[in-house]
Amino acid sequence: MLCLTCGKLGPDICDFCRANFNAASDRLLDDGLLVRSAFRHEGPARDLIHQYKYRGSDRAGWMLARALIPLLPEGHELVAVPRASWRHLRYGIDPAPDLARRLGILTGRTVVLALAAPLMAHRQAGRKRSARQPAVLRVTSRPRSSVVLVDDVLTTGSTLSGARSALQSFGIRVESAITATARGD
Ligand SMILES: [Zn+2]
Repeated sequence: MLCLTCGKLGPDICDFCRANFNAASDRLLDDGLLVRSAFRHEGPARDLIHQYKYRGSDRAGWMLARALIPLLPEGHELVAVPRASWRHLRYGIDPAPDLARRLGILTGRTVVLALAAPLMAHRQAGRKRSARQPAVLRVTSRPRSSVVLVDDVLTTGSTLSGARSALQSFGIRVESAITATARGD
């Protein structure tokens, strides 16, 4: 096996890389939503996310899903924040729903496909944060309990806040959100 983040022969994540995963702090968004993230989006944690999102690494996907388990509050259904379809098609996976599915398998939690992305969205990665608009998500089914949102990377939190307000407008309570990594502010 090769280390997923540096490619050295050895375990999934070698000791050197493992020592350079940094825990992320919890963040409270402006709308009061608590977001807990497993790692800061830097170093080997960022490499691991890239292996998963852009190279489709199944091992990286399971590792990230396992890292989310300790962040899960008791007793809520999981709702992922889907991305616009063009990204899904371009990279082959829609990371947040895929992470939620893996987390559901690992924990037995119910995963509800409650949100759908718009068909088209402007590419946001290269734009200034101030110019970014949260995607308008559609609520497509109703979870039976309050939910925890699942996303891959926390940036400004605007997408999570948009997801929360879409669900809340249907009377669905969002307990908190979890993400694999968090970018620093
Ligand atoms: Zn390594």
